Amino acid sequence: MDAHCHLEAEEFSGRLDRIIADARAAGVVKLITAAIVPEQWEQSAAIAAAHPEVAFAWGVHPWYAREEHFAALPGLATARARGACAIGEIGLDGKIASPEMELQRRIFEDQLRIARELDLPVVLHCRGAFNELLESLKRVGAPARGGMVHAFSGSAEVAEACMAQGLRFSMGGALSYRKSNKRDRTLRRIWPDHLLLETDSPDIPPVQAAGQTNVPANIVHNLAGASAYLGLLEATIAEQTTRNADRLFCLGLGEGGV
Ligand SMILES: [Zn+2]
Repeated sequence: MDAHCHLEAEEFSGRLDRIIADARAAGVVKLITAAIVPEQWEQSAAIAAAHPEVAFAWGVHPWYAREEHFAALPGLATARARGACAIGEIGLDGKIASPEMELQRRIFEDQLRIARELDLPVVLHCRGAFNELLESLKRVGAPARGGMVHAFSGSAEVAEACMAQGLRFSMGGALSYRKSNKRDRTLRRIWPDHLLLETDSPDIPPVQAAGQTNVPANIVHNLAGASAYLGLLEATIAEQTTRNADRLFCLGLGEGGV
């Protein structure tokens, strides 16, 4: 199960059938694609309509936040009716100078409100802004269905504070990097119920595919990394992380698959 990827990306245009078939062959039973700008929303819905393995989320990513996107938010309020399983990718990024944090915060909080109104979970991007993220969640209120922080690389303490707000964590390519004690502690804290696996394709390739466009089939390398950290069978981790994603996003999968 690839809990987070971007199948709308230009890198995949014209070869999505192949990319998804390769993922299936690698054992992936479901992929959640996340739109990052309103211009992608229809495309996400169309990809999911054409591929039963794909579920989709709609959002405005903090990197691409612009004033004019506020006018598109009434459209986001139709996400659930259109079949989205979550609102995302949304969030805050403290490591970029532009867009400024205040604009990021306003558009993030508006989208958080919509997720709450729709009773959908959220898919969060957060780098260097966990205090701000937690403040926003407390100010607006966390969605009842919770959410996940994707590409999570925070400490066990940050994970703890996020779990108190109903969040889970998805990890990807970083699981294949050289072992880190911090990641080890975090993984042991969030396993078993709060860990999901992702690729973030076409970004963040695992070391085994360094320098290439990342694809969902590469999830097998991230799974192997998680298995090395936790000292558990890949099958055990695949089943558990798929079950966690199924519960969070209400995918109706049942058991089995990566
Ligand atoms: Zn992403």
